[in-house]
Amino acid sequence: MPNNKQILLDSRPQGEASVSNFRLVASETPALGDGQVLVKHLFLSLDPYMRGRMNDAKSYAQPQPLGQVMQGGTVGEVVESRNANFQAGDKVVGMGGWQEYSVVDPQQGGMLRKVDTTHIPISHYLGAVGMPGVTAWYGLVKIIDAKPGNTVVVSAASGAVGSAFGALAKSRGLRAVGIAGGPEKCGYVKDELGFDACVDYKQYKDAGSLSQALKEACPDGIDGYFENVGGMVMDAVLMRMNAFGRIALCGMIAGYDGKPAPLSYPQLMLTNRLKLEGFIVSEHMDVWPQALQELGMLVGSGKFRPRESVAVGLEAAPEAFLGMLKGKNFGKQVVKLG
Ligand code: NDP
Repeated sequence: MPNNKQILLDSRPQGEASVSNFRLVASETPALGDGQVLVKHLFLSLDPYMRGRMNDAKSYAQPQPLGQVMQGGTVGEVVESRNANFQAGDKVVGMGGWQEYSVVDPQQGGMLRKVDTTHIPISHYLGAVGMPGVTAWYGLVKIIDAKPGNTVVVSAASGAVGSAFGALAKSRGLRAVGIAGGPEKCGYVKDELGFDACVDYKQYKDAGSLSQALKEACPDGIDGYFENVGGMVMDAVLMRMNAFGRIALCGMIAGYDGKPAPLSYPQLMLTNRLKLEGFIVSEHMDVWPQALQELGMLVGSGKFRPRESVAVGLEAAPEAFLGMLKGKNFGKQVVKLG
């Protein structure tokens, strides 16, 4: 059986996470038992939620156990199978974690799904046609529930979730406005993703001036907001929300290191009679087939060309992960293996 490099969670961060929280080890992959499948990973997904799971704190998901392989989404190829539903050569998406190979037992709850890579590059099953894409779909369709002509805004607009949100919003005839960090990301959001406008939040020192820039980008106000970051950005958007607006509360990455990210004017939620709903995409598995079909059409037809940041080699995963938390990624952050 092949040798398998793995990255374990070695210690829990105190404040900001660092490379010393991770440890690289190698071990042999075990021989397959009945019903098991050996998958060679081609790409690992790096996602902001992993930062929350590094803490030993109460949350919607169990903490990542210390001394175990970092958990996370993977795409790969079946190299050996003792399961009648999978054959060597099948391309699959699963939750193989930060390692080069995984042994999966689909009958014992191991997640493994075959994917068609004819029109969609396999790595996109970790991004636009995977969990982040479905996340954008859920917030837009089930929470914001926008009507044609409405203005919707998304923060972290150039990222995995934000870019899918923009593609879905534009395909529904909405005015889509992004918020992103830096002129290069904003240029991509407007010129390549087709958003109507993008505001570079890094040019503004406070929520008031950012809100003024949003006023220009959203002359009719904001009907729906998809929140990925929190903090000053959320403050600025709240000042521009229309009455009876909807907010899909997806992520608050500005606070993931544990620093407070207070809201200055929460009373705006009352005065504007806003509906704000937090959600976790894995609790809505019923919508995944419908969402993945729509996202697959957008990507397969070339209407949505998601961008990726690709780190190379398992050893590069911790640095790439920490960089993503600081916005060094440009599009969906993955690690290419093999
Ligand atoms: P991204 O690809 O968007 O990467 C994260 C981005 O966040 C960075 O590129 C950076 O963009 C931005 N960012 C980081 N720190 C800050 C900050 N302090 N202020 C403003 N922006 C910041 O990641 P994803 O698309 O994978 O995830 C986006 C959000 O969605 C995250 O909050 C994540 O936790 C959440 N999420 C929630 C799910 C759910 O079920 N609720 C499921 C999946 C994701 P920039 O350079 O533009 O600042």
